[in-house]
Amino acid sequence: MIVVSKEIGEQWAETNVCSECGGRLTLAWGGSYGEKSHVLICANSKAHKGIARPFHLAPADNPAFNLYDVNKDRRKELTEKIGEEKTKALEQYEQKTNLGEIQARTIIQSIWPDAPIHAVLRGALICHQYGLNPLMKHLALVKFHSRTTNRDTWEPIIAIKGSRIIAAPQGCWSYLDDSPRAMMEIEGLKILGEDEYDPTNNYYSICKLKDMATGREASGIGVVGKDESIYGTDKGNTPRNQCNIRSERQALDRLYPDSQPKDVDVTDENYLGEPAGVCAKTLDTPDKKTIDTVQGEVVNTPEPSEPVPTPQADTSKYGHIDASFVDDALSRLKRGWPQTEIYKHLKEKYLVTGSKLTDAIAKLTNNQAAEFTKELQSRLDLL
Ligand SMILES: [Zn+2]
Repeated sequence: MIVVSKEIGEQWAETNVCSECGGRLTLAWGGSYGEKSHVLICANSKAHKGIARPFHLAPADNPAFNLYDVNKDRRKELTEKIGEEKTKALEQYEQKTNLGEIQARTIIQSIWPDAPIHAVLRGALICHQYGLNPLMKHLALVKFHSRTTNRDTWEPIIAIKGSRIIAAPQGCWSYLDDSPRAMMEIEGLKILGEDEYDPTNNYYSICKLKDMATGREASGIGVVGKDESIYGTDKGNTPRNQCNIRSERQALDRLYPDSQPKDVDVTDENYLGEPAGVCAKTLDTPDKKTIDTVQGEVVNTPEPSEPVPTPQADTSKYGHIDASFVDDALSRLKRGWPQTEIYKHLKEKYLVTGSKLTDAIAKLTNNQAAEFTKELQSRLDLL
């Protein structure tokens, strides 16, 4: 039984089920239970608490449906951008989610003719490997403009819809506890700890998922810096929405481990606009904030109320790099490569930031850390 307001109760009864047994929820007046409020009760047991919102793939995202209107609207948008001839040539690939790499490349090059080849190839590989289609707005190439370097970079970004499509064959999941939603302070301090949790400078969201068949649960955290430029604000996207999406994507990747492509940001397809319009948009290079170093959030649980363990930071390492090596290198390189320059280098090359240089270093992925270590070593060798 959950105590709720009438409005919220009506909404949850319609969209959610019991998170413990999947049973239907009924809204009732709680008088006979000693509550001066409405209550939501599971049809199977009054003792059950918790709500779960089951995920369903929308018909428009299912390649088995050939939605004439969807294709018609999309073609119209595309024709305005790339002309009738090119749009016609792409018609054969509509509603296909088993594109070959070359087919995906053809589509991407037609829609984003200005994109450099490495971004095209990366996008094509993701489409081919994960069954995505840019014509269905599962993936887009976006041009980011860095004000600091005054240079443009192109990157594939995946729509959250694309992330769900990738995860869908792995199981049936539900969103617990009305998530994704803003993370409460108490959750932030518990999960991230005082050092990592920084609500003054960041937005945080949490997404909790449960695979109803296996009972497995996982949660993900999304972070958006308050100074971060995010995609689609001109079309109504908000930092909170972006933050929610990142938390959902991380939760999906944890519920079905390694199901999602690595090092690709995610966005809301509703703010992507028409596929061909994306390349006209420029953004300041965003800081991609993920909390990959946080361990212990995947809870293999039959016990949903179990508290999430606070991660123990490995103090001998900054992410993937030995802390003593970094400390030593930074002090020896002081004059040759000042810390402010290193920080700038990391921010521009790997899009990592932090309140301290070592925080940024800790956010490097395994490969980036290896590359950065080599760089430090080669500069030390010159001393
Ligand atoms: Zn129940």
